[in-house]
Amino acid sequence: MGEIKLQSYHHYIIRAKWILPILAPPIIDGAIEIKGKKIVSIGKFKEVFKKTAFAKPINFEESIILPSLVNVHTHLELSALRYKIVLPSDNFISWVKNVINLKKELTVSEIREAARASLYNLWKEGVGIIGDVGNTAITLPLLCNSPFYGYFFNEVLSFRGGYNLKEIKIDTESLNFKITYSAHAPYSVSPLLLQAIKAYNKKRKKLFCIHCAESLEEVEFLKTGKGQLLSLLKEKGQWNEDFIPPKLSPVKYLYKLKLLDKDTLLIHVVYIDEEDLEILKKTGVKICICPKSNLFTGVGLPEIKRFIFAGLDICIGTDSLASNDQLSIWEELRTLYIHYPDISPDIFLKMATFNGAKVLGFEKMGALLPGYYAHMLVVEIKDYLTDNPKETLLNLINAEKEIKYRLYV
Ligand SMILES: [Zn+2]
Repeated sequence: MGEIKLQSYHHYIIRAKWILPILAPPIIDGAIEIKGKKIVSIGKFKEVFKKTAFAKPINFEESIILPSLVNVHTHLELSALRYKIVLPSDNFISWVKNVINLKKELTVSEIREAARASLYNLWKEGVGIIGDVGNTAITLPLLCNSPFYGYFFNEVLSFRGGYNLKEIKIDTESLNFKITYSAHAPYSVSPLLLQAIKAYNKKRKKLFCIHCAESLEEVEFLKTGKGQLLSLLKEKGQWNEDFIPPKLSPVKYLYKLKLLDKDTLLIHVVYIDEEDLEILKKTGVKICICPKSNLFTGVGLPEIKRFIFAGLDICIGTDSLASNDQLSIWEELRTLYIHYPDISPDIFLKMATFNGAKVLGFEKMGALLPGYYAHMLVVEIKDYLTDNPKETLLNLINAEKEIKYRLYV
């Protein structure tokens, strides 16, 4: 894969057979004019070229140009667990126990080196923005010294409470990464601590991120206070005798705690009912789906059509290599297409680009329009590129392909 780091003093005109602006229909024989790292104009080559006689031309011919991808949810520090958990798991709790036990055996250098390899693969796969969750911050220096943009969520896990939310300091060189606290899940963080983490984020205008409604065991625990999660909490010395089961679904429980609003990001959201859907709609909460992870842990896929029909902001994450064989947004897209072939591919591509950038708060990224940053991928597919836009999008998702170039600022 070639790389072109765009220079602010250059004036470029980039041409390709197909350009996918994401927020506008695909353009055949398109061109993008770039000046000062930002897109100035985009359209048919003939029209853009007329106005840009002095620009440096780059012609990618039989290629597709689209914005770089966004992986909204991963845990790079679990990368060293790749292939260590037998798949597929038919029991969510046994998967959780495996992660807890195997994680303890990892050394700091194993964690760091596997995370470094994952970052390299994410770059090769065309990802430009990452939402990374970690309990140790071992991955933070890697992220801050990388060409990625994103969020690092310092994840809190404490059902007994008693966690000190100190101010997180960030050095000035790492302005491409935002850092804040996140909560693991409704069953692993005490209600008071959940509210404290939300308050911390609200005060600093940061995103509050939490796994939610991932498994039936989570639903059972919140509705009855019983089940395998109760046993697990007791086994790990995390059970809180003062906890009164809310007798609510995960979404309703978080809503009752006043944690749901447009600055909250829920990960997974597999188990919801009609009332939950109404709450998700009226609060404007954001949702990140992780389809391959859900298939791996055996919890099933979220009801994506209901989300789309309700007009919710959906984005995509891979989750970690403890529940996925690779951190590839392309493979997540392919999985979505296999399970939902009647959903238009442009909806999935928007989830993997613009929606992800918007949810993580990166303005003017994730689409190719005037005023947007020129973070782009030049992709060649092995099949012949047709003149049909829908076929082109389907080929992009399903066919064998290669990212020939990355353009970034
Ligand atoms: Zn996760």
